[in-house]
Amino acid sequence: MKNCFLFLVGLLISGLTSAQTVPPRRPLPIIDVHVHAMKVNPSFMLEMCPWFLRDMPGGDPNQQMRAFLNTECVDPLQPAKSDKEMQDAVVATMERLNMTVIAYGDPTILRNWQKAAPGRVIPGIGVSSPSEMSVKAFTDSLSSGFYKVMGEVAPQYQGLSPSDPALDGYFAAAEKLNIPVGIHMGTGGNGMANLTQAKYRASLGRPFLLEDLLAKHPKLKIWVMHAGYPMVDEMIALMGANAYVYVDLAGFIWSYPQAEIHMYLKRLVQAGFGKRILYGTDFLVWPRLFETSISVIENADYLSHDQKRDIMFNNAVRFFRLDPKKFE
Ligand SMILES: [Zn+2]
Repeated sequence: MKNCFLFLVGLLISGLTSAQTVPPRRPLPIIDVHVHAMKVNPSFMLEMCPWFLRDMPGGDPNQQMRAFLNTECVDPLQPAKSDKEMQDAVVATMERLNMTVIAYGDPTILRNWQKAAPGRVIPGIGVSSPSEMSVKAFTDSLSSGFYKVMGEVAPQYQGLSPSDPALDGYFAAAEKLNIPVGIHMGTGGNGMANLTQAKYRASLGRPFLLEDLLAKHPKLKIWVMHAGYPMVDEMIALMGANAYVYVDLAGFIWSYPQAEIHMYLKRLVQAGFGKRILYGTDFLVWPRLFETSISVIENADYLSHDQKRDIMFNNAVRFFRLDPKKFE
């Protein structure tokens, strides 16, 4: 009986010590390279059904166009209603998913998020047209130490090629300061040129338009945001010709039809570029968009565990020259 009691006490103690020494398991780290940190805008507080572009509506220039986003699904994503609600939701998600983000947008919001989630927010600053900021002002901002990334750069929306000489001074500054650059190329949704952004041109999203820029700035490290969707042939050719170019999956991963997303991603991996693909959301206003987008990668049955880890984390650590020890 006494032995039995000792045995029980022993079990209890070993149970207690193992409960004390085994820390709760954190999820494997994730880096989202494409997050917009904006003040909540009441006129863009819309519900959204992911993958809504599976049904490009017919239309007529003489009729009212259907709303850009559709809400015809069981459980539309809800927008955050205030800056506080947004910050709380983003911070909670980053903690829960063990996620670090590269974020662009309002400097006050960026600083608030950084403060609320130390070490999880890497700020970026973009410029898409010379009318936004002088080269001097941009260089001063980049040199301040606060911004670690140049992005999102989206000359396509301004009717400009990324190789346009008007943007050269900005890219030269990033090259000189050794700062990686994210450039929007490709996707824009339905009716971008004729319904919402008059200067937008689909042809200005062609990955080949980056060639002159890359030739002129051999030390410039760029990633192509939205992976040049849907111009996968040019994207593959450009990455083949330029050994340091990466892509992100942002935007199209939650807006286009899922079969189309997987076809595009599979093609990039199949072509041998699994080490040059970065996970990105194009986070805007819906807190649940992170998990929605991550599920696409999790469900990609043609990717191995290692390939998924490369896309979700390892490739970004390499591309942004981060310290992997900081994520342990
Ligand atoms: Zn973009």
